[in-house]
Amino acid sequence: MVQFVGVSEIRRIVAQVGIDAVLTRMVDYLEADFRRWDRFERIPRLASHSPGGVIELMPTQDDALYSFKYVNGHPYNFERGLQTVVAIGLMAEVDTGYPVFLSEMTILTALRTAAMSALAAKHLARPDAKTMAIIGLGAQSEFQAAAFRAVLGIETLRVYDVDPAATAKFVRNMAGRGVRVTVCEEPGSAVTGADIVTTVTADKVQATILSDNMVGTGVHLNAVGGDCPGKTELQKDILSRASVFVELTEQTRIEGEIQQMPADFPVTELWQVIRGEAPGRTRRDEITLFDSVGFAVEDFAALRLLRDLATETGQYETLDLITAPADPRDLFGLIAPAMAEAAQAA
Ligand code: NAD
Repeated sequence: MVQFVGVSEIRRIVAQVGIDAVLTRMVDYLEADFRRWDRFERIPRLASHSPGGVIELMPTQDDALYSFKYVNGHPYNFERGLQTVVAIGLMAEVDTGYPVFLSEMTILTALRTAAMSALAAKHLARPDAKTMAIIGLGAQSEFQAAAFRAVLGIETLRVYDVDPAATAKFVRNMAGRGVRVTVCEEPGSAVTGADIVTTVTADKVQATILSDNMVGTGVHLNAVGGDCPGKTELQKDILSRASVFVELTEQTRIEGEIQQMPADFPVTELWQVIRGEAPGRTRRDEITLFDSVGFAVEDFAALRLLRDLATETGQYETLDLITAPADPRDLFGLIAPAMAEAAQAA
């Protein structure tokens, strides 16, 4: 039987465990898996592009478990009343190849992306960072705000979105969550005075969400929205001034902000910083940039955590998804009795 966590179960798990605890544990799981980076199979995701978006498969494995996520990115889905990003994920035993865990991953991706952003900022932002700007107040945004509050104690937010309805939704969702929210009229005023700037917009173009003159010294940039070929958020000049940190270099060169830069543009992989093998921020006035695109090892860590939380809380179902014949070679024997019954009844 395969353990299954659907939308109802993950909602109950987050409610029961508490979103702060889920996010802080997610950071711990991510950090633990980034520390053992070389134990994972690391390949860029397989992306199938179409005019309206992209569908991606993100596989990885360690010695014991294999995982993959199916995820899309369709920025214009909103116009049809649909989400930009939806996802499902699966874990299997490496030893037998048998699937053991199947899960919704739309909510889980938002939690893992936010926790990953917070983990990067924990290692790269100035330790006295107090204020974060968020540009783009869609589905991911409240999760980002929640993770930065839970993990880094960021309680002051300056926010901007082109869509007033998205802004109103964000303000409503963040009410009573221990953060002060200032709504700004344009991105320039949102980033003024912010120690951390998160960009998490959705469009299938090389957009300029932040221009070079908006980014002051000492800022940590958490660029989440640019995660596909032809889809970026930062003006190129910002990258030249920043120290850039990535997940898997070969994937980020295709999908991240650095797709705008030459192929030998210097970057540091985050696992090196987490393991103390490369420096993170070295000066107060340095601009650090986490060029987030999302990598399979993060989904592996997220599925690992959700599987543990499901077992701990009892919030899961079991699915009759994998055949289990008494004689493993007699697969036909599983369908033969039902076929015989149907033939008799006819
Ligand atoms: P969404 O469609 O729900 O929200 C996007 C928001 O951006 C909307 O509110 C929209 O009005 C706003 N926006 C668009 N253009 C803007 C602009 N010029 N200025 C300000 N706001 C603008 O999308 P989402 O699910 O929140 O995802 C946001 C982005 O993050 C997507 O591009 C998605 O692919 C990406 N993403 C990245 C990762 C990762 O690991 N890096 C993970 C999940 C999602």
